[in-house]
Formats: sequence, C-alpha cells, structure tokens
Amino acid sequence: MGEFELIERFFQRPAGRQPLGVGDDCALLAPAPGMQLAVSMDMLVEGRHFLPGADPVRLGHKCLAVNLSDLAACGARPLAFTLALALPEADAKWLEPFAQGLLALADAHGCELVGGDTTRGPLNICITVFGEVPAGQALLRSGARAGDDLYVSGTLGDARLALEALRGELQVPAPVLDAARERLDRPTPRVALGQALRGIATSAIDISDGLLGDLGHVLRQSRVGATIEADTVAGLLAAGGVVHAHARRAFTLAGGDDYELAFTAPAPAREAVEAAAASAATPVTRIGRIDAAAGVRLVDAQGQAVAGRFTSFDHFL
Ligand code: ADP
Ligand code: MG
Repeated sequence: MGEFELIERFFQRPAGRQPLGVGDDCALLAPAPGMQLAVSMDMLVEGRHFLPGADPVRLGHKCLAVNLSDLAACGARPLAFTLALALPEADAKWLEPFAQGLLALADAHGCELVGGDTTRGPLNICITVFGEVPAGQALLRSGARAGDDLYVSGTLGDARLALEALRGELQVPAPVLDAARERLDRPTPRVALGQALRGIATSAIDISDGLLGDLGHVLRQSRVGATIEADTVAGLLAAGGVVHAHARRAFTLAGGDDYELAFTAPAPAREAVEAAAASAATPVTRIGRIDAAAGVRLVDAQGQAVAGRFTSFDHFL
C-alpha cells in the first residue's frame, strides 16, 4: 500500500460541512460570520506520550481527545482537524483500528478530518484542531480575579493511578485498574462544558500536566494566587478507596493526563455555573478561591495549611 492509497483508504471521507477537505493542496474552512477561529496543536510521540504497542483504537481516540480538550478550555466549538502521521510502515492492521478510534470521536463532536501529511518514520501523531468561538468570547488563562471561585470538572488523578499501576509501582484490584485505565486511555474532552461556560467563567485551562501545574499558568497569567481545599480535591479520585491519603493528594493535585477543565467564576455566578454544568451533563466541584496574593495555599477542611510539595509534569525537567 502506497502513501496515497493509505490516505484514500483510511482518512478520506465523504464531503462534510467544510467547503474543502482531504485531497487538495489546502483544505478550506468556513467559520460562521462573527466567529473567531480557535487553533491548537498537540503531538503524541511513541515512548513519550504512549507506550510502544498501545492499542490503536484507544490511541486514535486519545490523540484527538487531547486536542479537543484545548478547544474546550477556550470555550470553542470544534469544526475540523488535520492529522500529521509518521508511521514505521503502512500496516492496515494498525491503521484500520487507529482510524476507527480517531474518527468515532471526531464524528461524536462533528469535527471533520480535512487534511494532513503522511510520512515514514518513528510513530508520531500530530493533530491541529480548528474550532470557532464568538469574537471576543474565548475563555482565556488571564481572566481570573481575586475573590473568584475556583472549580474543576469531573474526576482527577485516576489516569495517574492507572499509569503507576501499569508500571507496577502500585497494586490495585483489577476492576479498579480497568476503570482508571479508561480515564488514561480514553479521556473525555469537556467540549460542551467549555462552551456552556462562555460569559460565566472568567478564566479556564484544561488539566493535562496536573492540576497545580496547569492552574499555575492561570495564576501567573492572571497575576493572582489561590487557596485550594486539598481534601475536596483528594475526594475527586474516583478510585479513592484503594490508595492511601498521600497518594490521593498527589494523584489529584499533580497527576497529569486528566483532561478536565479548571476554571474560575465570580462568586455571584454560582447558580449560573451549576446551570452550565447541568446543561453540559458534566459534574463540577468548587475546590477553592482566587486570592490577590501570589502563590498557592493548600488547606484542609479546617482551613489549616497542608504540607507537601506536588510537582507537575514537564518534558524537560
Ligand atoms: P501535498 O504534497 O500537496 O502536501 P500530500 O500528498 O501530502 O499533499 O497529501 C495529499 C492530500 O492528502 C492532501 O489533501 C492532504 O491534506 C491529505 N493528507 C495527507 N496525509 C493525511 C492524513 N494522514 N490524514 C488526512 N489527510 C491527509
Ligand atoms: Mg504534504
């Protein structure tokens, strides 16, 4: 199978809503009038972001999910994506399930594959995603204000728990590992929630490297600090019962690979936040507040300082 047969067989689909997709020198996108184009790119490298031999259906899902999560954080609606693939060989037994996992998630979000590039090389998957957001309404990292409430969506830390269990660093019962592994391999981008939070949230970010690390970007860019209820956050580990208290804290505060949203909203907007969460069928939890003083203060249920250093993932540290 050659390069062009490969593209035609696995990645070329019937015309969608965008004016021009796979098969020409450029794709053409048509965001609606009054909309801004939201663009984001994420690269997944074998051995770095996923284990060699990873299940191709799940890999297809995950590499688009992490990109859709960035659109969600900006409150954008997905339109289309491009796919740059480096493959060691043109193997239909890998490409077929990879395309299936990828395109199932794409269809679920009405996000069309409109182009890409295909080359031989060590397995590397790079997606650029395009979304639309009403001009001036994108959720940014820079909008948090002192006094705002701080929230996260869904659950935190289970992806990290799964990773540690798969590496043999942690023993957990098989059904617990199965559930946690779903979170690691098949993250749910919070696309509906991000859009529902437009006009309500003052800032947002998606949690890919760990809550504290990603929240740190919001705090720096907004020039504020935060107080976080560590026990409330620790309670967001779905597999909470099977690990000790320190691991619960570490996994939820600095686990990574969660793909949940962390966002801020003014205290008078609590009902609006609840309504947005309900409309998106996505649970959200208030985990603290934004302070004028820089830095993060971790407190327990009694408001006492919680000790410990929790570091997030960084590719070069
Ligand atoms: P060019 O040489 O003009 O860059 P290519 O030969 O690389 O074009 O690709 C031919 C067409 O197939 C283009 O429309 C391109 O966007 C598309 N394409 C290539 N690789 C992929 C891929 N992995 N997924 C989707 N579309 C792809
Ligand atoms: Mg090309």
